[in-house]
Amino acid sequence: MTKQYRITLLPGDGIGPEIMTVAVSVLKRVGELTRLQFAFKEALVGGAAIDATGNPLPEETLAVCKDSDAVLLAAIGGYKWDTLPNAQRPERGLLNLRAGLELFANLRPATILPQLIDASSLKREVVEGVDIMVVRELTGGIYFGQPRGIFTSETGERRGVNTMVYSESEIDRIGRVAFETAQKRQGRLCSVDKSNVLEVSQLWRERMTQLGGEYPDVELSHLYVDNAAMQLVRSPKQFDTIVTGNLFGDILSDAAAMLTGSIGMLPSASLGASGPGLFEPVHGSAPDIAGQDKANPIAQVLSAAMMLRYGLNEPEAADRIEQAVQKVLDAGYRTGDIMSEGMKPVGCQAMGEALLAALG
Ligand code: NAD
Repeated sequence: MTKQYRITLLPGDGIGPEIMTVAVSVLKRVGELTRLQFAFKEALVGGAAIDATGNPLPEETLAVCKDSDAVLLAAIGGYKWDTLPNAQRPERGLLNLRAGLELFANLRPATILPQLIDASSLKREVVEGVDIMVVRELTGGIYFGQPRGIFTSETGERRGVNTMVYSESEIDRIGRVAFETAQKRQGRLCSVDKSNVLEVSQLWRERMTQLGGEYPDVELSHLYVDNAAMQLVRSPKQFDTIVTGNLFGDILSDAAAMLTGSIGMLPSASLGASGPGLFEPVHGSAPDIAGQDKANPIAQVLSAAMMLRYGLNEPEAADRIEQAVQKVLDAGYRTGDIMSEGMKPVGCQAMGEALLAALG
């Protein structure tokens, strides 16, 4: 029997449409091979939505997303919209989408692929075998806390204010996702905070320690965020699963991304308690290379694989995509961002064709 899924596509801005085209053709092919049928609906988000409607997340887009089985996003943002006020910027569309779908958990794998070890800026012996999952809290913390804004004091001096805030229930729910993720991996969880300075982190550490009692099979450790950043580049193999808040997770997951050689290789999944998940590359809209057929579509394609695995529970289809990625890398195909000597340079489109050929 053929299974059907409703997928919302949000190509967004910059390289988004180019890499989305590749992911959709890969999904269609894998669907034919595994008897899955995808009904795709495209919607506007980010700069593209601002241009068309004045709103980075039109109500219609959120409604279409909520009415689907999973949402596949490419990237948003670009120079053109950089001077708009905060509430109208493309990034706000993405933040509102995550909040609207109540996606509080962001899973970002940073796995070093053997074919790309030499693309990493770190030494082979440091990165070989790295396999980290960063679990980032996504709908709380300083990106959402109130009060926020730029305020003018009585003396006329302006002050920029953001508030880092976490409630116990917010910490507990991301903690549970992280402990359960660690259980499925090597059973080690490192919680990252700044509890030597921040009260919000002291509560974070207290709750994580308390939760640890419920997961005796997971070995829990704690690191301050500055030390965690240092350890990530000094000795990344020590990490299995990392759990942290929104701001620290944003920064650390990009650092973890670079261990793998290219930000163009990394997918992510954002999950809520129920409803559709959001699957997107870790990277942004790369306006510097947009429209030039230079983008690496692999993070987008691997995001589609994560969508199949974590969003739709279709592991066989996900495996096929991940194996196709391995095959094209084994065959030496490389976009500019992961190029090394002796490999075959390809653009975004040609990488897509190689992936389709590898799928068979
Ligand atoms: P970026 O990730 O877009 O680009 C950083 C660097 O990596 C650039 O040199 C870019 O060319 C390169 N790069 C990124 N993805 C690539 C790919 N698939 N293939 C090859 N090279 C790739 O980050 P940035 O430059 O800081 O931000 C650009 C815009 O993207 C900004 O407007 C920012 O707000 C937005 N952004 C969006 C998201 C998102 O949609 N989730 C995430 C981060 C940044």
